[in-house]
Amino acid sequence: MSPRREVVAEESTSEDALPALHRAVSPEPDELEVGLEVSIRPRRLGEFVGQSELKEKLAIVLEAARRRDQPVDHMLFAGPPGLGKTTLAGIVAAEMGTGFRITSGPALTRGGDLAAILTGLQHGDVLFIDEIHRMNRAVEEILYPAMEDFAIDIIIGKGPSARSVRLGLPRFTLVGATTRSGLVTGPLRDRFGFVTHLEHYKIDELCEIVTRSGELLGVECTEEGAREIARRSRGTPRLAIRLMRRVRDFVEVRGTGTISAETAREGCTLFGVDDLGLDSLDRAILDALCLRFAGGPVGLGTLAMSVREDAETIEDVVEPFLMQAGLIQRTARGRVATASAYAHLGLDGPPLRAASERSTGAHEVALFPTT
Ligand code: ADP
Repeated sequence: MSPRREVVAEESTSEDALPALHRAVSPEPDELEVGLEVSIRPRRLGEFVGQSELKEKLAIVLEAARRRDQPVDHMLFAGPPGLGKTTLAGIVAAEMGTGFRITSGPALTRGGDLAAILTGLQHGDVLFIDEIHRMNRAVEEILYPAMEDFAIDIIIGKGPSARSVRLGLPRFTLVGATTRSGLVTGPLRDRFGFVTHLEHYKIDELCEIVTRSGELLGVECTEEGAREIARRSRGTPRLAIRLMRRVRDFVEVRGTGTISAETAREGCTLFGVDDLGLDSLDRAILDALCLRFAGGPVGLGTLAMSVREDAETIEDVVEPFLMQAGLIQRTARGRVATASAYAHLGLDGPPLRAASERSTGAHEVALFPTT
C-alpha cells in the first residue's frame, strides 16, 4: 500500500486571527488585571454571586468548623479559569478569620520552596495552591504528610550520615485549585475533604457580577447594558468584568460615560467580540471548518495549522467553549461544524453528505490523497 502523504492545509487568510494570549476573551488574567481583580474580589460568601449549591455546602462546612473551633478541611476547587476559585479560597480565609497565603504549582519548583511556606504558616491559615496539578512529584510528596499529619520530613546531612527528622506544622487548611481535575493524582485528591467543581455562570448571574463590579469601579451601567455584556462573557466572570472595562473605555471616549445596551454592543464589536462572545480566533476556526474543510471532520493538527495556532491551545482554550456553545463537535475522526456554526457565520449548510462519504471518511481522503 502506498504511504499516505499529508497535504498541509493552507494557512489562514483571516488577517485578524489573534495569538491566543492576547485575546479579549482569554480566560486567563492579563498583567493589569491581576491587581484590579484583588481590589474587586468578593470578600465574604454572601457577596459571591451564583454557584448556589456549592455555596450552600461550603457555608455548612465553614460553620461546622467554626463551631468546633477547628481549621476547616482541605478543599479542592476544580473548573475552568476565571470562574472564582481564587476568590473562593480568599473567602474561606476571610470567613474563618485566618491568614491567607497564595502560591501556585508551577512556582513550587523545589521541595524547599514548599517547606519554607509551610513552616511559616500560623494555626488555621489558608494556603492556596493554584494550578495544583502542575506541581512536580517531589513537591507533591512533601504535601502528603503535611496535609494528613501536619508534619514534614526533612533530611539533615548528606550521604550515609543523612537522617530524616519530622517537623511538626501548625494545623492549616490547604485550598487547591485546578483547571484540569483529571490531572490531579489519586493520592493528592484523596487527601482533600471537600472536592467541588465550579460551573459556568448563567446570564442573570453574570449581569449581577457586571453591575456589582461596575459599582465598585465607579462605572454607570444600565441593566440592559450589563445584560449585553453578560451575554458575550462565555459564562465567565473574569470575561464579564474585562468586557465591562473595555466598554467603559469606549463610552468614556465616544459616548456619555454610561454603558447602555447600544454602547455595550458597539464597544464589544469594536473590540472584536461578537454577540455570542466569539472573537477572531474562534471565528477563524469556524470559518476554516465550514468553508475550507466543508464542515469536517478534520483533524486537530490540520485545523490548528490552518489558523496558525498550536494544537494544544485550540484543544484547551478555544474548543471547550465552541463545543459548549454547540458550534462544533469532537468526533473520533475529527472536528465537525454544526448547523449552528453555519447559521452563526451566516452561511448555508452544513453540506449534505452521502452516508458512504460519512462512513468512509471520503472527505479526509480528499485532504490527504495517497501518492
Ligand atoms: P479563578 O481563580 O477561577 O481563575 P478568580 O477567583 O481569580 O478566578 O476570579 C476572576 C475574577 O472574577 C475576579 O475578579 C473575581 O472577583 C471575579 N469573580 C469570580 N467569581 C465571582 C463571583 N461568583 N461573584 C463575583 N465576582 C466573581
